Amino acid sequence: MQSLLLIRYGEIALKGKNRPFFEKKLLKNIKEALRGLEPFNVIFQRGRYFVKISPQDNYAAIQKLQKVFGIVSISPVLAVPLEMEAICRQALLLLQEQYGRPGLTFKVATRRANKRFPHTSPEVNRIVGEILLNSGLETKVDVHNPDIVINIEIREKEAYLFCRSLPGSGGLPVGVTGRGLLLLSGGIDSPVAGWMALKRGVKIEVLHFHSPPYTGEGAINKVLELCRVLTAYGGKINLHLAPFGEIQQQIRRHCPEPLLITLMRRAMFRLAERLAQQRELGVIYTGESLGQVASQTLENLTVINSVVTMPVLRPLIGFDKEEITARAREIGTYAVSIRPFEDCCTLFVPPHPVTRPDSAILEAAEEKIPLDELVNRSLDNLETRIIANTPGGEP
Ligand code: ATP
Ligand code: MG
Repeated sequence: MQSLLLIRYGEIALKGKNRPFFEKKLLKNIKEALRGLEPFNVIFQRGRYFVKISPQDNYAAIQKLQKVFGIVSISPVLAVPLEMEAICRQALLLLQEQYGRPGLTFKVATRRANKRFPHTSPEVNRIVGEILLNSGLETKVDVHNPDIVINIEIREKEAYLFCRSLPGSGGLPVGVTGRGLLLLSGGIDSPVAGWMALKRGVKIEVLHFHSPPYTGEGAINKVLELCRVLTAYGGKINLHLAPFGEIQQQIRRHCPEPLLITLMRRAMFRLAERLAQQRELGVIYTGESLGQVASQTLENLTVINSVVTMPVLRPLIGFDKEEITARAREIGTYAVSIRPFEDCCTLFVPPHPVTRPDSAILEAAEEKIPLDELVNRSLDNLETRIIANTPGGEP
């Protein structure tokens, strides 16, 4: 016997001529999310997806599907032969399963796609409804506002019954809106920013700056682990590791201390833009949030932003730390983010970072170091890893 899951999508139904493109992407993403639970089979029919899967994988499949953006809800479905007796028996089982208290109200809602079935939809509603009312359970029919709805779909070969709907993550299927580059530190914010990019359908590649030997394998493992959490929402991720130590050393040696953070972040943005162009990624994403730290004043964000022309999206800009933390817990990145490993930025935090930087002064400081050459060298030494959406991690 196989279990069936009915998957409904939301926003994508509104996308007019793009609809087939959206539906195909979602189908691909569903298949990718379920990899490892073979054998399964996904069928697309009448604006919904049906997943056939072995019963022991049912729970795991629902959990995976709840993270696939574009899905609004998932219902476990019982498939029965096209006979009234079998349909009534399963409807009764569903009612018994859901029966929580005397006086429970229900409604039977039948859809008959197979017009050769000898009973019309209202007839099926009535026959099944009567059986349920006479089941010995204390129930009532309420067609307007029932506690539970027993859905019956009469199809070509089988009838499908379901009454429970589990929420999906909503949003848009990853890949439909475009591609972006996420600047991922080991902190709490940037993984949440990545999740928000994915939620609006943007496929992301990830860039992380590290400073060996000051930052060790621990920092990299943390970032690998964060990417792995994100793959459950967005599929396979290309992670680019850029060495940043030399740039940091040079800035520290030759530039005024209060400017260090702002200058480092300008260097990060320059490199990020070049990488994004090489990889044909249209936007940069960061986890910046206004006013959270000294480098995130409006003035600092402005001068950091001014070194690139590519759009920089900051989905967390208006969130408080508490809100970001709550979301990080919800999506599963928080526990990884709080592991104690040094991020390259936290290594050289000056005691009094500038909060109202002056562009001319920053540019003068940058002239003291061969910035272009340093950025190019870091790009030349970039290491790329592919993080797969499997429990084992990398392919
Ligand atoms: P986070 O919690 O994401 O680390 P933060 O509040 O600590 O953010 P900053 O350290 O100022 O803030 O970093 C701001 C943003 O810059 C991060 O959200 C991230 O997008 C990017 N960033 C910082 N450090 C790195 C790094 N080592 N590699 C890649 N991106 C980074
Ligand atoms: Mg940080």
